[in-house]
Amino acid sequence: MIKIKTDKEIEIMRKAGEITKNTLLEVEKYIKPGVTTRELNKIAHDYIVKHNARPSFLHYGGFPASICASVNDVVVHGFPNDEPLKEGDIISIDVGACYEGYHGDSARTFAVGKIDEIKQKLIDVTKQSFFEGIKGIKAGSRVGDISSQVQNYVEKYGFGVVRDMVGHGVGRNLHEDPNVPNYGYAGLGPVLKKNMVIAVEPMVTMGDYHININGWDVRTVDGSVAAHYENTILITETGVEILT
Ligand code: MG
Ligand code: MG
Repeated sequence: MIKIKTDKEIEIMRKAGEITKNTLLEVEKYIKPGVTTRELNKIAHDYIVKHNARPSFLHYGGFPASICASVNDVVVHGFPNDEPLKEGDIISIDVGACYEGYHGDSARTFAVGKIDEIKQKLIDVTKQSFFEGIKGIKAGSRVGDISSQVQNYVEKYGFGVVRDMVGHGVGRNLHEDPNVPNYGYAGLGPVLKKNMVIAVEPMVTMGDYHININGWDVRTVDGSVAAHYENTILITETGVEILT
């Protein structure tokens, strides 16, 4: 069942979203060659706690950290560790903050130092695919409208759209109905209604879109690098409001 949020719930979710967004902005400052993802995790964790929220991911389904730190061919769900980031890596940071019982969920992919032009293109296309995905979306649109807009944009550039992981509703639970795939057909899927809150999160690969999922370990099958861009959004009568 897709939950419709009350105005009061939305007020709280705006705050959760703001903390989530600002956590990513804080972490971004520290991304450079030599830093470890464990250090980035601590920066995010401390920032969230300092702002009277709780890291949504910590212990979620047994996840051991407050951020997902996914380097290069790791698509999502990477565990923070003690390996220093290297010049030329790309890293996706996914974070959630739970404020007064409601979650925000957001992800970005960052360059570590100087990266290849094609990797920067992947990051840029992934980010833009989110904005293409939400173009024209409002109450009365369908989930498939988002899906098809993301897919069509990404595939124009010859990149792969991950199928096996999808966006989702957000609220009191980090993952709620509906599923929000990044591939599909316009006009299909659940109807979006005013005051629904969903996370739209394209995961895009440089090569083939197939991924291997072994527990928390999620990588591209062909070893190509992957990027991720996610925001939690509110559906309104006239459009969407990005909460993160
Ligand atoms: Mg996320
Ligand atoms: Mg998500």
